[in-house]
Amino acid sequence: MPMLTTTWQPPQKHHRKATILHVDADAFFASVEQLLEPSYRGKPLVVGGRDRGVVCSASYEARRYGIHSAMPIYKARQLCPEAIFVRGNSAVYREISQRMFAIFHDYTPTVEITSIDEGYLDLSGTEMMHKADLSTIAMRILQRVEKEIGITISGALSTSKLVSKISTSQFKPRKLTLIAPGKERAFLSGLPLKSMPGIGKRSLPQFEYLGLKTLGDLAAMTFEEIWNRFGAGGIVLWERAQGIDRRCVNPEGYRRKSISEEKTFTMDISSQYFLEQETMKMLKDLCYQLRKRELYAKTILLKIRYSSFQTYTHQKTLESVSNDEDDFRPLLKELLKCRQLDKKVRLIGVGLKNIQSELQLQLFPSTQSGGKRKPESLQLALDRIRKTHGANVI
Ligand SMILES: [Mg+2]
Repeated sequence: MPMLTTTWQPPQKHHRKATILHVDADAFFASVEQLLEPSYRGKPLVVGGRDRGVVCSASYEARRYGIHSAMPIYKARQLCPEAIFVRGNSAVYREISQRMFAIFHDYTPTVEITSIDEGYLDLSGTEMMHKADLSTIAMRILQRVEKEIGITISGALSTSKLVSKISTSQFKPRKLTLIAPGKERAFLSGLPLKSMPGIGKRSLPQFEYLGLKTLGDLAAMTFEEIWNRFGAGGIVLWERAQGIDRRCVNPEGYRRKSISEEKTFTMDISSQYFLEQETMKMLKDLCYQLRKRELYAKTILLKIRYSSFQTYTHQKTLESVSNDEDDFRPLLKELLKCRQLDKKVRLIGVGLKNIQSELQLQLFPSTQSGGKRKPESLQLALDRIRKTHGANVI
């Protein structure tokens, strides 16, 4: 058991102001579908793969039937057979997302994107420019998204990322919440432990074992109790339960560690040729996404789920980073050989990880990368053609 070697000081309390706005679109994919197709509005709608996939997004009308994200589609159908089921269109969601973030950037340059429909804005110092107080500015942002894009978002303004994020989810949909400085701990204290990001399957039973139920119970523990049982990781959660969160809004913070695509087949597949074709398509698309963002990856993953539901992931790493599918293709072929040929495949997926930007490459050139990378002119030229003439021409 770790010994207590440090003492804990609460952070200084001067000039704290509720400047951090967390924003999150309400039922994003489902709302976009209802925006594009007026006949879907006001009806239970589920975005997800066909019968064998899971729910990606459910409209609020569908949620009334108990349908929620990550639920198997067949279960959603049982709960609400009359719901509208659509497959979704990621290109459209990305475009709407970009328009939403463009609006946020009109109000402050300090925008941290945390997912396709969610992020943090630091509004400090923007009162003069917008001639309003921060809660008015926040309200304008939410209203503009609704008016100009046609989907609703929720948000919360507080002194910290944590408190803003939790209160957005507590009061959704179509709500702006303000947690005044000094009220953070009181707001959090009645909430169940699992409402805090970071308290999950592993830590929750350990806290419950101690008889803790709410964030208030956790906050009431002493530094020594937490330190001796959980060490530094526990201290972070204990501080956050008190509403203490020192993280800043970081516009550079959104750097995806990996990207992936997967597909659940309507029938289990045994043809190696077919699987090769499908995974090559995914690889091509993932490399295209990297090039668009001027990013590079080093490791490729192959995920295979057999009809028995047993799932395996295999991976291989290049010597130097790349965003050219031709570099990853031989590795993917190797990975496909790991497949157990006597078993049929239900789902297959490809991922790329160890992603870095050009800037990182320049700052931290690894021994293998740098000069050895292939010139990308060919792939970039192909991308330009894809952009102008559609993805299927090449
Ligand atoms: Mg959302």
